Amino acid sequence: MTGAQYWTEKNQIAKRRTLDNNTDQTVLDIINQIKQSGDAAIRQLTKELDDVLLPKFQVTKEEFKDAYKQVSPAFLRALTKAKNNIQQFHAKQMQQSWFTNSHSGILLGQKITPLEKVGIYVPGGKAAYPSTVLMNVIPAKIAGVESIHIATPPQANGKVNPHILVAAKEAGVDSIYKIGGAQAIAAFAYGTETVPKVQKITGPGNAFVASAKKCVYGDVAIDMIAGPSEICIVADESAPAPYIAADLLSQAEHDEAAKPICITADRTLAAAIQLEVEKQTELLSRKHIIKQALKQNGRIILVKHLNEAFTIVNDLAPEHVQLMIKEPMENLRYVNNAGAIFIGNYSPEALGDYLAGPNHTLPTNGTAAFSSPLGVYDFVKKSSIIHYDKTALLETADEIIELAMTEKLTAHAESINLRKDGRNAKSYN
Ligand code: NAD
Repeated sequence: MTGAQYWTEKNQIAKRRTLDNNTDQTVLDIINQIKQSGDAAIRQLTKELDDVLLPKFQVTKEEFKDAYKQVSPAFLRALTKAKNNIQQFHAKQMQQSWFTNSHSGILLGQKITPLEKVGIYVPGGKAAYPSTVLMNVIPAKIAGVESIHIATPPQANGKVNPHILVAAKEAGVDSIYKIGGAQAIAAFAYGTETVPKVQKITGPGNAFVASAKKCVYGDVAIDMIAGPSEICIVADESAPAPYIAADLLSQAEHDEAAKPICITADRTLAAAIQLEVEKQTELLSRKHIIKQALKQNGRIILVKHLNEAFTIVNDLAPEHVQLMIKEPMENLRYVNNAGAIFIGNYSPEALGDYLAGPNHTLPTNGTAAFSSPLGVYDFVKKSSIIHYDKTALLETADEIIELAMTEKLTAHAESINLRKDGRNAKSYN
């Protein structure tokens, strides 16, 4: 399609997946069951939805030990490398409390306090995601969260995938519960006999998980509502078509609703990408998902000039942007709305998914226009600090009283008057 067609078909291309009423109703029922019956409801829902009857949900020490026997040394080496890179990157996000006393008798500041308890959802229905464990647990750990818990659905054999258990142990998780879907989110939000109530729930999941996070928000904090994955590659003739095609397909394989989009001003490149996509798709194990994603949301957009490409990128606000152009660093300033920006022909999105260090939990569904990747800052809260001594307060007492009286808040004004004159100014009755 052309750049001009993008703007006419934009509503279809940028269409957001919304949660439907049926899912929301199912989820509300599940949440109510967990609130009313706690562990007993978890047990019953796990039997109904995951087809496993579990007397106990918490993963035992023996299960952790067994998991280490089941994973390969190569996996452990790769995990350790990823863990170190993620730790180094996120350590730079650590914020410090600060104070300022630029005026005599006045101290102002901001105190940073880690959350005490967080719950992390690790999806486990169709596949296992140890990378999700690292990307959520490590920033929480660096923030100083005391108590970190994971919920993940049990497999058919009643166990948790060993790669998830090893990743969790290596990252320093306190406990893991074999609970999936909305029941896991509700258990973390309200607590049960076994599962601790947490202050914040993070982590991706299917539509039931997303809907449950939306429903419990307010009783507990959440990171974001994750939607299908998106990539937008801006390419010119300096980029090899096979690389571009491979990167588009790496997004398409996530989900039938994934959005793999490439924008270029080079007609020959656009045609070569199309051919490569068709050729490479046939070699991939998840080609049934890929074909759906390509059909529904796959686009190669042919623009007149790269400037137009950046306008479209900013309009889409995609989760991932790849700049595969001659001068990517010079053009970086034109990308304002993106979860993560990958620069050059050797920075494919898969590098960021697993190993580079930045978080792979990114805003989707166009929310990169106003929100940021998961980070250490998501696991702390800030308190403002205010101290005035008597002289400093009296110096500004009249202004406070003036503003309070303008708002007709006489108790506010009197709390200042008392300190100024040692008595109430008057009765307002
Ligand atoms: P999941 O763990 O999210 O969901 C499985 C659970 O869904 C089950 O345990 C069950 O409790 C519940 N469920 C299933 N059918 C139900 C029904 N009819 N009614 C009520 N509850 C039901 O696993 P999944 O389904 O494989 O989905 C994983 C999702 O997470 C995918 O969409 C994947 O793309 C996404 N993901 C995203 C990231 C990221 O970083 N953005 C990473 C990994 C996975």
